Amino acid sequence: MATLSTSKNAFLHGRWSAEDSARLYGLADWGKGYFGVNAEGHLTVMPLKDPGRQIDLHSVIQGLRERDIHTPVLVRFSDILSHRLHEIRGAFDKAISEHEYKGTYSCVYPIKVNQQKHICEEIRNLGAKLDFGLEAGSKPELLAILGMTDGLDQMPLVCNGFKDDEFIEMVILATKLGRNIIPVVEKFSELELICKYADKYQVRPKIGIRVKLSARGAGRWEASAGIRSKFGLFVSEVLEALEYLKARNMADCLQMLHCHVGSQLFDIRHLKNAVNELTHVYTELRRLGAGMNTIDIGGGMGVDYDGSQSAWDSSINYTVEEYAADVVYRIKTVCDDASCPHPNIISESGRAMVAYHSVLVVDVLGMSRFEASPGLEKIKEQVKAEAEPPQPVLDLIDAYERLGDRNLVEVYHDAMQARDEAMSLFSLGYMSLPMRAASERLFWAIGQKLVEKATKKGEIPEEFESLPELLSDIYFCNFSLFQSMPDSWAIDQLFPICPIHRLQEEPTRRAILADITCDSDGKVDHFVDKRIEKKTLELHELREGEQYYLGVFLLGAYQEILGDLHNLLGDTHAVHVSVDEAGEWSIDEIIEGDTVKQVLGYVEFDAEDMRRAMRKSIESAVKCKRITVPEGQSLLNFYEAGLEGYTYLEE
Ligand code: PLP
Repeated sequence: MATLSTSKNAFLHGRWSAEDSARLYGLADWGKGYFGVNAEGHLTVMPLKDPGRQIDLHSVIQGLRERDIHTPVLVRFSDILSHRLHEIRGAFDKAISEHEYKGTYSCVYPIKVNQQKHICEEIRNLGAKLDFGLEAGSKPELLAILGMTDGLDQMPLVCNGFKDDEFIEMVILATKLGRNIIPVVEKFSELELICKYADKYQVRPKIGIRVKLSARGAGRWEASAGIRSKFGLFVSEVLEALEYLKARNMADCLQMLHCHVGSQLFDIRHLKNAVNELTHVYTELRRLGAGMNTIDIGGGMGVDYDGSQSAWDSSINYTVEEYAADVVYRIKTVCDDASCPHPNIISESGRAMVAYHSVLVVDVLGMSRFEASPGLEKIKEQVKAEAEPPQPVLDLIDAYERLGDRNLVEVYHDAMQARDEAMSLFSLGYMSLPMRAASERLFWAIGQKLVEKATKKGEIPEEFESLPELLSDIYFCNFSLFQSMPDSWAIDQLFPICPIHRLQEEPTRRAILADITCDSDGKVDHFVDKRIEKKTLELHELREGEQYYLGVFLLGAYQEILGDLHNLLGDTHAVHVSVDEAGEWSIDEIIEGDTVKQVLGYVEFDAEDMRRAMRKSIESAVKCKRITVPEGQSLLNFYEAGLEGYTYLEE
C-alpha cells in the first residue's frame, strides 16, 4: 500500500496552512534553514538563516516583472553564498580549536563548479577575508583565476587537471610574479615540465602531487579515485617523483599532497578512509625528505538535496561540522602517531559552497490532464447509434457506474480487461474510432475515480499503485531542463521543486513537469521526498489569468555551466538579490539572458544575413501581391524583434 501524504495532512489538520506546505515540500529538510514560508503563503529566503531577515521570493519576481525581467529567471542570493563560506570556515575553525590542531585550513573554490564571473568575484572577495583561495582545472580557468587575483599574492591558487607546456610555463611565471600558486602533478611528465621551467626562470615552485589512493568514494563519481582513476600518480610513481626532485635538489618544493575521492560524497566513511590513507602517505613522504606541509583533501563535501540526511546519491549522512571534525581529527591522529607536525589543510569544496545560493523561478504555461468525467450521456448516445454496440464499451460503462467504496480492486480489474479488449477490437478493425475514444475516456475516468476514492481512504491498493502517476497532470513550464538543470536529465539528480506562492492553499493536483524543449526527455518526473520514490509533485489548480510560479532550488553547483543550448534555448536571466539589516531586499545586479540573435550566433547564424534574406523574401511576395507592403513591414518588424528577444516564451 502506498500512503498519500497530501490528503492525510489535510485530513489531520482540517484547514490547510502554510506550515502544511512547508512540511509537504520538505522545506526544513533540504532547505537547511535558508528557506521557509510566510503568512501570505509565499516562499521566503533567509540568506543568513535569520527569520528576522526574510526575502519574499514571490515579491522579488513581481519586482522583476515591474522591471520587465520575466521568468524563467535565476535568482542568486549573494548572502547565502557568503553564509555558506562562513559556515565552512566556522566549522573548520571549531574543529581546529577543539582538537588543538596546529595547522591552518583553507578552502579553494574550484571555479569549474560555477565559473560565472560575478560568483567567482564574490567568492574571491570573501576568500580574501576568510583565507580561502581558488582552484583551476584547465588553461582557461588558470587564466581566469590569475586575471582576477591581482594584489592577492597570499591567496592559494591550486592548479589541477592535465597540463601542457604553456600551462606550466604560465604557473612558473606566476610564481615569479609572487603568486601563491601550486601546480598539482597529475602525470609524471608534468613534473618534468615544472622542473624545466623552474630552472629556466630560476624559481623554486611549490609543487603538489595527486596520489591514487586505494580508498575510493561511492556513487556517481566513484571513478574519481582508486587505482583505475584517470588522475594522479601511483604510490610508486610518487616515490619516483620524490627521487626525481631530490636529484635536482628540489625535494623541499614538494609541499602538497592531494587527492579527490569524488563529488557528492554521501557517506562520511568514504571520506574518513581516504583522509586516513592520504595522511599516512603524507607522513611517509615527509619522513623520506619531501618538504611536505599541506594536505589537500579535494572536493566532495556533499549537499543534502532531498533532505533525508542519509547515505545515498541525492543526500549526505553528515553535516559540515562533522565533515570538518572528521578531517581534522583523522589528520591529527595519524600525524601525532607518526610524530609529524600537523599540515595545513586545504579542501576544494565547490558544490557545498555554491549549490544553495541559486534558485530558478519558472512560470507554468498550462497543463494537460485526463478528464475526471467521461461525458457519460454522450457516450451512451453514441453507443445507441452503433449498429452493434461493442461489448468492451458496455463493460466500461458498467464498471464506471458500479464503482463504489468497497469494490475498488474488482472494478479496476474489470476496467483493465475491458480496455484491453477494446484496443484489440479496434486493431482488428471491429471498432469505430468514436467507440475507441469513448473506451479511453471511460477507462481514464474510472482511474480518476479509483484514485480519488483510494485517496480519501488514505491508501492506494498495490494493484493500482502506479495509477496516480499515470493519471497525473502534466504542467508545462517555461524553461529548458537541458539548459537549467542538466543533471536532472543526465544523471537523474534530484532538485527540490515547489510553488513559491499559494502555499497557504492545499495543492490538490498531482503532476509531472514538462519543459518547452521539443524533447520527450525534457521533463521532471522524480521529486524529493526523503528517499521515497516520489513520482508526482503536489501542485495547485491553475487559475485563469493568474501566473503560477515554481521554484527549482539548490541549482548553484555545476548546472549553469553544464547547461546546453538544446533547441537554442539560451541562458536565462540571472539576478543577484541581497537583504539589508532591516530585512529589505534589493536587486544588486541584473544579467539579462541570451537573446535569440546571440544563440543563433553561437551556431554561426548571422542575424544580419537572416534579416536580409527575410526582406528579400517579403519583397518578392509583395511583388507577386501575396502580401501587402504594410503586412510585409509588420512581418519584418516582428522578425527583427524576435531576433532581439528572449529565447524563452514571453508574456
Ligand atoms: N577538486 C577536483 C579535483 C574535482 O575534480 C572536483 C569535482 O569533481 C572538485 C574539486 C569539486 O568537487 P565538489 O564540487 O564535489 O566539492
